[in-house]
Amino acid sequence: MKLSDKIYVAGHRGLVGSAIVRLLRTRGFSDLITRVHSELDLRDQSVVRNFFAQEKPDIVVLAAARVGGIKANSDAPVEFLIENVEVQNNAISAAHESGVRKLVFLGSSCIYPKLARQPIPESALLTGPLEPTNEAYAIAKIAGIKLCQAFAQEYGTNFISVMPTNLYGPGDNFDLETSHVLAALLRKAHEAKVTRQRELVVWGTGEPRREFLQVDDFASAVLFLLENYDSPEIINVGCGEDISIRCLAELIGEIVGFEGDLSWDRSKPDGTPRKLLDVSKIEKLGWKATIPLRNGIAQTYDWFLKHRARQLANI
Ligand code: GDP
Repeated sequence: MKLSDKIYVAGHRGLVGSAIVRLLRTRGFSDLITRVHSELDLRDQSVVRNFFAQEKPDIVVLAAARVGGIKANSDAPVEFLIENVEVQNNAISAAHESGVRKLVFLGSSCIYPKLARQPIPESALLTGPLEPTNEAYAIAKIAGIKLCQAFAQEYGTNFISVMPTNLYGPGDNFDLETSHVLAALLRKAHEAKVTRQRELVVWGTGEPRREFLQVDDFASAVLFLLENYDSPEIINVGCGEDISIRCLAELIGEIVGFEGDLSWDRSKPDGTPRKLLDVSKIEKLGWKATIPLRNGIAQTYDWFLKHRARQLANI
């Protein structure tokens, strides 16, 4: 990659897209293209085609997607399926038509079977039934992977698919209805502390295990793969360690300074029992996560205090 490459980051306002833009700027990439939703609706095929034909980016990072935690996914499967398939079909085919040199499609660890062997190797894709709470999203992401692979097979394009584990960090979504667990518990622990509540309500049983990767680590993996990986075979990105939701809630309580008790809302689903990615493939290529979970959570809490706490308290 050259510093003068024209790079389109789709979804630059999201958790992942904003981290990728931050990193590319820091590394000296100066020709970045971004568009907010009102300027470019990625669900609109003709608008997307015109945009790509006009801008002709060299590189595309497709970080635009409808995303959300376990509740949002179970509540809105139609939107998760339709919008994600529309956005990725439009962007991937327009990237091909306009001659994009390399595209990175972002998948998710939920593409793997609910009961996949742990840690989950890339070869587990399509070897068993999916977790029902995020099946619609997973099916959309699997369609995106297959589309990138089909373009590679039929037209020789260099479109790669990267599977991140659960991500968190500055820029996360702290809306309790749609967020993922880490951001939700940070906000709940903070609000419980400042309003002197005695209990912090955590969904499910606390037994499921998840792997968490700080988003700046993920952005560095994306750049590493842009520079070092040219295969249509999917590749996992994670930190290689997981933690139970119970331990995560305790750790967050400690970092935030919440001194009350945890209580369990067992009416909420646990989702998949365990989701730990096998990251040996990317580690063999020479990339490894660097931000320990405790530091990443502390830094995300600082970001939350500076950018979200007051604003959310006013709602
Ligand atoms: P998942 O990884 O796709 O299951 O998505 P989430 O990050 O939303 O949820 C992970 C796990 O954390 C699930 O077992 C949830 O039930 C649990 N969890 C506990 N408390 C919360 C919460 O307040 N919000 C969310 N989103 N999940 C929670």
